Amino acid sequence: MKKRMIRAYEYLVKLVAGNDEYFQKHEKEYVKNFKKDLAYAVPDNKRGRKIGYRDIAARCPYKIHERKKVGRASTRGLADVQSGRIYLKKDLPEYDKIETLLHEWAHVVHAEYCDSFHSMTGFQREVIAGAVAFVVGKCLNLSFCFAPFYVWLYIPPQYKKEYLNFDYIKQDVFKVADIILRQLEGRKV
Ligand SMILES: [Zn+2]
Repeated sequence: MKKRMIRAYEYLVKLVAGNDEYFQKHEKEYVKNFKKDLAYAVPDNKRGRKIGYRDIAARCPYKIHERKKVGRASTRGLADVQSGRIYLKKDLPEYDKIETLLHEWAHVVHAEYCDSFHSMTGFQREVIAGAVAFVVGKCLNLSFCFAPFYVWLYIPPQYKKEYLNFDYIKQDVFKVADIILRQLEGRKV
């Protein structure tokens, strides 16, 4: 298991478990204003160029469709796991778009590579996709502020503290994140 993934996951566990009160208090505003809350550390590649959405999208093995509107007005992206198609809202800010792409990409990989996907609830799938987006982002030196809140939101209230340490959640997050990192880095899956 790659150390960087474990470190990123531990950090997410801390953020989700440690901000219960904050997330609760700010739930409504957070959903409404999340775009304003985003602060990103933009990574450089070896040549010193900023890595952007285009670089990441170019590595995605699934077909990405950018649309003016995707589902409901607040929906940023959708994954059609049957066909492996990803739909993204066209006018998202750059790094919001990266986070959404990684999230939908996680859904597709989860469905394709993990049998467990098919017996999971929609909420469990959302926790996993949110956690994967966060972990992969961290491995690329991107800090996603919305993902920890999103993960927290989909965890049942009585399990907020320990949910991410359940083996069946953790295993899928690491498996899916590892596959996406391999796809991003052009390594064998
Ligand atoms: Zn999702």
